[in-house]
Amino acid sequence: MKINAYAAMVPKGKLEPFSYESGELGAEQVDIKVEYCSICHSDLSMINNDWGMTQYPIVPGHEVVGEVVAAGTAVKNVKIGDKVGLGWLSASCMSCQECMSGEHHLCASNESTIVGRHGGFADYVRGHWSWAIPLPKEIDMSKAGPLLCGGITVFNPIILAGVKPTDRVGVIGIGGLGHMALKFLKHWGCEVIAFSSNPDKKEQILEMGASKVVNSKDPKELESIAGSLSFILNTTNVSLNWDSYLTTLAPKGKFHTVGAVLEPMAIPAFSLIMGEKSVGGSPLGSPALTKTMLDFCVRHNIYPTVEEFPMDKVNEAIKHLEDGNARFRLVLKN
Ligand SMILES: [Zn+2]
Ligand SMILES: [Zn+2]
Repeated sequence: MKINAYAAMVPKGKLEPFSYESGELGAEQVDIKVEYCSICHSDLSMINNDWGMTQYPIVPGHEVVGEVVAAGTAVKNVKIGDKVGLGWLSASCMSCQECMSGEHHLCASNESTIVGRHGGFADYVRGHWSWAIPLPKEIDMSKAGPLLCGGITVFNPIILAGVKPTDRVGVIGIGGLGHMALKFLKHWGCEVIAFSSNPDKKEQILEMGASKVVNSKDPKELESIAGSLSFILNTTNVSLNWDSYLTTLAPKGKFHTVGAVLEPMAIPAFSLIMGEKSVGGSPLGSPALTKTMLDFCVRHNIYPTVEEFPMDKVNEAIKHLEDGNARFRLVLKN
């Protein structure tokens, strides 16, 4: 099958129309007709080769929702005609200890949708059936794409940290990832403090359910919540004064990062030791947890706040994101 896509030919290059032959469908693979694909910051990182693992031409796009149009002979769980979502991962080995434990996102042989293969800025994309996550019937397809990468990335830490509905928690950075975390935690039952240094977003952040927006650059504001948070989720990928956030954690509090900060994070040992605090991180989440998250979203009507662009305006959408104007996730429609 000939697939029509948008690809960057060189690092930081504009996306150009690009077509390729999909080749023979594997026994365990499905082809998905892309209805919507949203833009994740990792797409930009990959276009720019920030992580040194991009192969050109690259077709970005790993927050896909669409319909299964072809299924290999050994495909399980989904069938032709099903609506599914495909995120950052497109295959796991299905036999290692992690896969056998249901933790496919930790499989060492994982295939990533846009690493060494072509992603969802296209009319079709291919993946292993295990990562073609069945969508609940009632889901709003036009807003569901960001849940498949950004959404599960911030949902998994809530489970990992054992966050309780009675907890007071914090989210650092209210952008693409952070605003989804804020909505999840609000519906979880928590009191949510948003850390943001952008005053333009304050009203919107409060509307999304934050009880308070704290400017972390203001020591007085940090002082006002010292020692009160059970859990902090960092969604930014820039170096911050981590120690000042640790002071806002209650004893036994957990600081969790999903933001891929490239520099080493400076964490003073005593800030952890005295209150039995801990620091951790995580990537994505398992296929089963992704399904659970989607059900949770439908039950509570939780969706990312999106702006929609037609697929052929992909370069305009990327510029909008690079200029810092995205409110809060951009979705491309085929
Ligand atoms: Zn992503
Ligand atoms: Zn595996």
